[in-house]
Amino acid sequence: MRTNFTPAQLEDPQLAAAEKQLRACVHCGICTATCPTYTLLGDELDGPRGRIQLIQHMLETDAVPSAKVVTHIDRCLSCLACVSACPSGVNYPRLIDKAREHIERKAQRPWARRLLRKALGQVLPHRELLRPLLMLGRIGAPFAALLPEALRAPARLAARLPKAERGTPIAKVSRPSGTPVGRVALHVGCVQEVVAPRITRAAVRVLVRHGFEVTTVEGDGCCGALNHHLGQAAEAHTHAKALVADIAKHEDDGKPFDAIVTTASGCGAVVRDIGFQLNDERGAAVGARTRDIADLLRGVPLKTGRAHRFTRVAYHAACSLTHGMKQAAAAPQILRTLGFDVVEPRDTQCCGSAGVYNVLEPAIADRLQQRKAATLMETQPKYIATGNIGCLAQIAAAVQLPVVHTIELIDWATGGPKP
Ligand code: SF4
Ligand code: SF4
Repeated sequence: MRTNFTPAQLEDPQLAAAEKQLRACVHCGICTATCPTYTLLGDELDGPRGRIQLIQHMLETDAVPSAKVVTHIDRCLSCLACVSACPSGVNYPRLIDKAREHIERKAQRPWARRLLRKALGQVLPHRELLRPLLMLGRIGAPFAALLPEALRAPARLAARLPKAERGTPIAKVSRPSGTPVGRVALHVGCVQEVVAPRITRAAVRVLVRHGFEVTTVEGDGCCGALNHHLGQAAEAHTHAKALVADIAKHEDDGKPFDAIVTTASGCGAVVRDIGFQLNDERGAAVGARTRDIADLLRGVPLKTGRAHRFTRVAYHAACSLTHGMKQAAAAPQILRTLGFDVVEPRDTQCCGSAGVYNVLEPAIADRLQQRKAATLMETQPKYIATGNIGCLAQIAAAVQLPVVHTIELIDWATGGPKP
């Protein structure tokens, strides 16, 4: 597709990257059928091809976007199903990320909406703020109807999220008994550490049990993914830089980590792209080594017991793991090798979690959640497993059986506690 940016505009490397993707799009529309918001709403402007046109016009003119444009861009889940479908290799994140940042800088949103977005970007990445907020949300949930409209969805969400928990302390460095088979940095994260600290503990146990030396890395708590999805570039960069610096600090002894391991693919997908976001070589080196924990464990001989065998598990592949990190094949493969009876529903569309989407766009998120829950429950599982805390919480709020992280099942099967 032809573009009309000025040379001055293209001096911005992120705008230049977006322009390259705009030129790559041939408007074939093959991506459209895979887009969850298009299939739900049936509007071309709620599909990738329509959004790409809106983004091109908005970025070329550097215009203040209209409320209509903001609505269609806000409704995008950033699930990246369109990326996997596109035969021309259009890197849609380069477009939607730039569009979100542009909208965040220029759009005149209603004050309540602005306040909500600001609050989400300030609170969620900080565990010490999130804990009391979750508690308040649970108390306020029964009175949600009395709250201002913008606060109803977060109050309802807080009530549906797992309660805040305190995990047992983890050593900064955990070592195996013999010579390590590898040295990895394990990213701890923010929201997951508040609502499901058991996941990181299970990951440490599995890694150490199989010979890895594990150093936990945190930066300032968040990797920047939450702010990134909100278009809050400055905040996202601050968090990302802190994480890169924390990793570098532990490599100062000249021993680089073999991998940077994430247990939340929503974070992992953003960390893999951290070099581009920061326009920084150290960040690029971190991104290139970032792996989902199941992908790291693929090929590692796992020591398995018998108690879990033939337990039926419905596996939900998170969009960020499938289309973002492109590392979704490992988890179900490992679970099968360990002896679980794994079923993967054919409907692989987004569950509606998508970062903070379920707070900001609850009507669409709820429809996707209900569809996802029904598809998974049809398989009559004992557990539902996934590799991303957002999906885990979103699905758990809609079903009556345990929804766990894949690593918890791997932990159980290799000598850890039953989840
Ligand atoms: S499939 Fe790719 S090239 Fe075709 S419209 Fe979608 S993004 Fe553009
Ligand atoms: S990222 Fe997902 S919701 Fe957004 S346009 Fe692509 S397929 Fe549609």
